[in-house]
Amino acid sequence: MELLRCTRLDLHFRVFSNSTTILKPLKQFPSLNYGVPIQNMQLQVRAEVARREENPSQVEVNKSSLYVDGVLRLQKSHITEGIQGRSELIFLGTGTSEGIPRVSCLTHPSKECSVCWAATRFGNKNRRRNTSIVIRVGTSSSRWKTILIDAGKYFYHSALQWFPYYGIRELDAVLLTHSHADAAGGLDDLRDWTNNIQATAQVYATCRDLEVLAKTHYYLVDTSVITAGTAVSNLQFTPISEDPFFVCGLKVTPLPVWHGAGYRSLGFRVGDICYISDVSGIPEETYPLLSNCEILILDALRPDYSTATHFGLPQALKEVRKIRPNRTLFTGMLEVHTIDLCESLKFKSMMHLMDHDKINELLAQLKISEGLDAELSYDGLQISINLG
Ligand SMILES: [Zn+2]
Ligand SMILES: [Zn+2]
Repeated sequence: MELLRCTRLDLHFRVFSNSTTILKPLKQFPSLNYGVPIQNMQLQVRAEVARREENPSQVEVNKSSLYVDGVLRLQKSHITEGIQGRSELIFLGTGTSEGIPRVSCLTHPSKECSVCWAATRFGNKNRRRNTSIVIRVGTSSSRWKTILIDAGKYFYHSALQWFPYYGIRELDAVLLTHSHADAAGGLDDLRDWTNNIQATAQVYATCRDLEVLAKTHYYLVDTSVITAGTAVSNLQFTPISEDPFFVCGLKVTPLPVWHGAGYRSLGFRVGDICYISDVSGIPEETYPLLSNCEILILDALRPDYSTATHFGLPQALKEVRKIRPNRTLFTGMLEVHTIDLCESLKFKSMMHLMDHDKINELLAQLKISEGLDAELSYDGLQISINLG
């Protein structure tokens, strides 16, 4: 087969021969390096196709584990034995609002963004959707109690990939950090839950955010406007203040932070786990709420500098040194072009890209030099936690 042209798409690699067009799923090319210019990839594909035609027995296709659109096969959904007393975090999304890969990078006529192209490869840790996390607790009735923090624009895609894989089904509570689209834009998609899994979904949000949702998702807040017979999410909104409240028997302490000048967002503390996904400044009164933190999940948008609404990695590391959690996982990462980078405070000339592995290598040095246990999180990361 002569390969005339190939293009990269999300999960497929199109191989054109002179007589036919063959769609090769990306999973059939696990050995390819996708973070290189297209011309180099074409050479790789040619070599790979030739190799497989010579040695068809060596072609490894794992048909049982991957499905189209990144859905991971049902793995653990029915395993509920022994979950009593267990608790865990599952990162549904760890990226910025537009997600990674960015469409603008993949369609750029001349620039080749290695992080975004790497992110097109299935399983690559640079692939990031809107920040969101699940906290779940095993109950004595062999059922997980599941708390979802934020349901942003890409909630459906995150749930599609990770809910079957981790056996997440019911949602016992949804906590909103704030009402931006990447935190609340997926509330409409909860219709699948309230139509087919559970009668209603409890959503906890501040009064200021409920006022915003009454405009952006008016039909979910005021169900009297719904046309009869229309199926929309059946959400029960519970207003919260900045005082602690209880969900699924767990004390949840809001962590008020600034997310831009004059705009308040919430982090949440459950047990000794603190989650702050959208922050540009931590008010003095919030620091005591972060004391004795076991795991801190903290916003770090860029590797070089903070923006008006988000911490960059240098500022996030300053906060980590001040808060002193036992372990830190950064979230909300953007991919950054080399050309856009300024020199960072700590990693001068080393911090080229917010590439998962490269940044984690640098962060690992901090563990040696100052005992700081900090790394980037990634979509699908699961961590066992102790909620006492
Ligand atoms: Zn990019
Ligand atoms: Zn936001």
